[in-house]
Amino acid sequence: MHCNTHGTAGIAILTTTYLLTKNVKKTYIIGGLIAFGSHYVLDFIGEAGYQSMFQMLSIETSIFLFSMLLMYKAGMKAFQLGFFGFFIANLMDVIDKKAYLAILFPKHYDFTYYFHSKDQVLFPISYEATLGAALFSLVLVTFCYFGLKSKNKLGVR
Ligand SMILES: [Zn+2]
Repeated sequence: MHCNTHGTAGIAILTTTYLLTKNVKKTYIIGGLIAFGSHYVLDFIGEAGYQSMFQMLSIETSIFLFSMLLMYKAGMKAFQLGFFGFFIANLMDVIDKKAYLAILFPKHYDFTYYFHSKDQVLFPISYEATLGAALFSLVLVTFCYFGLKSKNKLGVR
């Protein structure tokens, strides 16, 4: 899946872990491990490619910024947790796609397969479903915002 889907899934996993454990340290360790592993599982779903580099950058950047803004509004600890969740859930791609340089400059940087397999996709989805997944990411992170905000324990700036 694309970066935004992995990232918001990571935020959702850390949010859920926090709501269940009410413990920030456990959330980083347990939730972090699950979020890291979730990348491999989500990559069984094969997204459709974006139509242009501009479309990719605008969708990915705006969902990332929207997510971080909402987490920030839920409090500084929620922001740190959200940023970590987004990052750790994308870490397999950060490594295998060379910090995304392999996507931006495919002629200069090769993909590696330390955390991916070449025939990993079991469920290819359409372009429309791919955009739907991006919309779902926005909904998911909004739920996380309300979940973390209502607990208010992370709301201390
Ligand atoms: Zn991946």
